[in-house]
Amino acid sequence: MYDSRINFNHVELNVYDKINATGLYRFENILQSQREENFDLLHEKLRDGESFKSYILQEGLIRKMIHDTRLIVLDPNYSCQVMKDLHRDYGHIGGRKLWLLFRNVFYCKNDRRLAKKVVRQCVKCIFSKSKNRVCNNEIKSILVENVLDLVCVDFIGNLIPGDQGYSHIFVITDIFSKFVRIYPTHSYNTDTALECIQRFINRHGRMNRLLADNATYFQNEKFKTTLSQQNIEVIFSSIRHPCGNPTERYIQEVTKFLRLLTHEHHEDWVRHVQSVEDFINHTPHTVTEECPAYLMNRRMPPTPWDPFPEEADDYDTRVQRVREKLRRAADSYVRKENSKITKRTIFHPGDTVLVKSYRLGRRDRGKCAKLDLPYVGPYTVVRNFNDVTYELYTMDGKKKIGRYHVSSLFPYDNNPT
Ligand SMILES: [Zn+2]
Repeated sequence: MYDSRINFNHVELNVYDKINATGLYRFENILQSQREENFDLLHEKLRDGESFKSYILQEGLIRKMIHDTRLIVLDPNYSCQVMKDLHRDYGHIGGRKLWLLFRNVFYCKNDRRLAKKVVRQCVKCIFSKSKNRVCNNEIKSILVENVLDLVCVDFIGNLIPGDQGYSHIFVITDIFSKFVRIYPTHSYNTDTALECIQRFINRHGRMNRLLADNATYFQNEKFKTTLSQQNIEVIFSSIRHPCGNPTERYIQEVTKFLRLLTHEHHEDWVRHVQSVEDFINHTPHTVTEECPAYLMNRRMPPTPWDPFPEEADDYDTRVQRVREKLRRAADSYVRKENSKITKRTIFHPGDTVLVKSYRLGRRDRGKCAKLDLPYVGPYTVVRNFNDVTYELYTMDGKKKIGRYHVSSLFPYDNNPT
């Protein structure tokens, strides 16, 4: 009888005992697999102990001679199993490494391609290895034509509690005029947000649309209903893509000024809120070249010098000029961003995708961001909003995951192993 262990030629596999548990490397199993139909022709040709092409029959096993090494010939199915085993047992090595390892002992037609495929379809690898490209598609800008056409809102949370116990800030920015209001708050939740928005409306008028991010304090029925009752359309930017929400930029501006004023006494920030508003609202904006306060209130803000006699153009003329400036700025931004995109990705309803996971260090829960899996999913694309924003559901279609920007998504092979 044959030795039940095959001769691995020159190879020493130090995990031999472990991997042999599957029986994949046992002589009789490999011999059995070579009795399959697709080996018939080879067996016939090799019957008389002769070689055929570079194949030989040795100890009953069909081998292939490659550079003086006698490799055991496996059929694609068997090879696939061996490769999956090796890939797993050797720490999810990449396709080329896997192929080189396999080729130490085995041969299969198109085994290089097979090794790549095995790695590409490994679920663990799909979730844990970083992708070397970002999906993208053309960006579009939000155009606004007038004051109060669109405002964006957001919280800056968890500041050092100041005088009256305020520890958060609610920021409202009018996208046309760049006019900013900063509201110190005690909490950050739906009620607080609605209250601040109401205060803004009472003072400056009702906005047509309101842009918020996907935080739960905005993304709920109460928030949406309360505003739509006042005829305000609520728009949500896509999750985890700051570019989708211009507030991000204004928040940074507010934070910058606050830092400048309070870096020595962090708890003092509340006293400086008015100054920060004035710094932003009373100086010309770099794009509109007008003071936000003028565009919002139709009145020039106070200046350290005497006001010039009223010879400037009237409000409507200046607003028209701002409109053109904003349009030009948006166009050039869109052109610039789009020129960076080399390959466009569009997903369709029914596609399966992975989502970049939010890499927040959660050391308190025994997790660290670097070792977290960089992707979560898979999820199903249910709706395509504008070729860059997609609504995702769980695979069974039962639970809504949210709205994501294309750059947070990655296509997912539907038949992983
Ligand atoms: Zn893997």
